Amino acid sequence: MNAKREWDASYDLVVAGSGTGLMGAITAARRGLRTLVIEKGAFLGGSTALSGGGMWMPGNRVLEDAGVVDTPERALSYLDTLVGDTAPRARREAYVANAAAVVDEMLAATPLELSHMEEYADYFADLLGGSAIGRSVEPEPFNVKSIGDDAPLLRTSDAISAPVPMPITSGDFRAMNLMGRRPLQAIPTMVKRVFQGVGGKLVRKDMAAGGRALAAALVAGARQAGVEIWLNSPIREVVLEQGKVTGIVVEKDGTRQRVAASAGVIIAVGGFDHNGELRRKYQSPALTEDWSFGNPDNTGDLFEIARQVGAGLALLDQAWWFPAIPSPEPGGAPIFMLSERSLPGSMIVDSTGHRFFNEASDYMSAGRAMLGLDDGKGDHLPMWLIFDQTYRNRYLFAASVLPRAPIPRVFYESGVVVKAGSIAELGDKIGVPGLVEGAARFNLLASQGKDDDFKRGLAQYDRYYGDPTQTPNPNLGPITAPPFYAVKTIPADLGTCGGITADENGRVMREDGTVIDGLYAVGNAAANAFGIFYPGPGATIGQGLVFAYLAALHAVARMHR
Ligand SMILES: Cc1cc2nc3c(=O)[nH]c(=O)nc-3n(C[C@H](O)[C@H](O)[C@H](O)COP(=O)(O)OP(=O)(O)OC[C@H]3O[C@@H](n4cnc5c(N)ncnc54)[C@H](O)[C@@H]3O)c2cc1C
Repeated sequence: MNAKREWDASYDLVVAGSGTGLMGAITAARRGLRTLVIEKGAFLGGSTALSGGGMWMPGNRVLEDAGVVDTPERALSYLDTLVGDTAPRARREAYVANAAAVVDEMLAATPLELSHMEEYADYFADLLGGSAIGRSVEPEPFNVKSIGDDAPLLRTSDAISAPVPMPITSGDFRAMNLMGRRPLQAIPTMVKRVFQGVGGKLVRKDMAAGGRALAAALVAGARQAGVEIWLNSPIREVVLEQGKVTGIVVEKDGTRQRVAASAGVIIAVGGFDHNGELRRKYQSPALTEDWSFGNPDNTGDLFEIARQVGAGLALLDQAWWFPAIPSPEPGGAPIFMLSERSLPGSMIVDSTGHRFFNEASDYMSAGRAMLGLDDGKGDHLPMWLIFDQTYRNRYLFAASVLPRAPIPRVFYESGVVVKAGSIAELGDKIGVPGLVEGAARFNLLASQGKDDDFKRGLAQYDRYYGDPTQTPNPNLGPITAPPFYAVKTIPADLGTCGGITADENGRVMREDGTVIDGLYAVGNAAANAFGIFYPGPGATIGQGLVFAYLAALHAVARMHR
């Protein structure tokens, strides 16, 4: 029987998932492969489109242009120290060796312009090879309307959106966050971006930064390279013939079709962000609600693919944890807590009323501490962010309520925020009598400017979201000025990062370590190349893009073999 007759359509490469997988599609199509992207949902871009768009890309051209000295060797020594044996070394070697080439490819193949995320330090910058000035890049504001009919198809959410249309880069956010402390830096930034955003609308532009800009540019690059894209088309099966992947079965608009993929198939279907059952099974019973910021269609289809082909799975207990404030609206999405926990005059306590970690640490470490994943002592829920009126007068709350402005009533009515005239009364109201003692200890540390308990403010990254006007420690200040506030805090996440085991070319590996010819897994569908760590801003999109690129190059070579 001629198997080819059975195909409903035929391509060289099929990429399942339209997030970072688009980079693989672009790379392959630009090298002559007939390439198809199949996307489960009705929207393009996945979590990549919802993200901040930061990319951790050691030694790339944009860094060089900005005068930053960095090399793959330095980045590798950093990763070696950090990641150790929590992930195979070959993966990080491939990552640092190719990150710069991926940036070159993106700049050549898409309308994207990138800039250095200045001072956005590696999360463990103090380790050998770590970077304090930062080795990440992000999109420059981009007119999403310029991509035409695809623009309304980009996945959107309110998780990181501004009250008025304006493109906000990471540097803008940092400046605006300190508007109460450094207005001379914040206000011109704000005016410039409002002018671009609101002003742009008047001339029919839709200026975006972050992941929206990134995804728009990747979609434009894919179209330009001749990639075909099918929406509402989840991958259902991988077709294996004589040990080789020859195609897939896709459910296109409800109809199953067999599609040949002679060069290979890249699985880029994201993680299991919104699969509560699997998350409680593999990660923590404390994850009783859907707190993930990830793309809604990321429900763990990687498991079914892995089962079909006998792929190995690893790091399933891991996620890109991200502390957050629960929504005050029933069923609403959580609210980002990015800088709130790093600023002086605040602390996070559990039901003992005491702190249990460095609140200013990177968000993955913070989430691990909150869920007690490292000490085996179990989670610290319920948790509260505690601050005073001085803090409220100085900083944004929930990334949107201006300094001094009243916190909207809905937060109090829902019990997400509790306010009291004294620490003792606040402790009573939230049922945490130990808060008096916990706050006394914190205030002692704050008065000496040195956190003897958890070293808050010591690491370079801690200080990025601190308040430089606070001395001697930009992350430490006392909680003494009434009224006092307690804000419910939850271990949300940006998505999961455990999944299919893959090698340095993104090739899917069986449990015994042998590779499955023609099958690749990248992004959050694959096990984190950095083990249980998040090395620096943009390391998740970074690894999605790098391994999608490498998988595509491998498929191109396979095709010509
Ligand atoms: C608010 C937010 C901010 C973030 N900021 C950053 C940041 O600045 N830098 C950074 O590095 N990371 C950031 N992250 C994390 C990062 O966005 C993700 O880890 C990354 O984008 C994952 O890429 P991916 O390609 O694996 O998944 P996605 O981008 O989610 O793409 C997966 C796609 O596959 C589709 N899919 C699912 N199942 C199937 C199927 N069966 N068949 C076909 N398609 C399927 C999904 O619908 C989705 O479109 C952020 C995340 C969020 C939510």
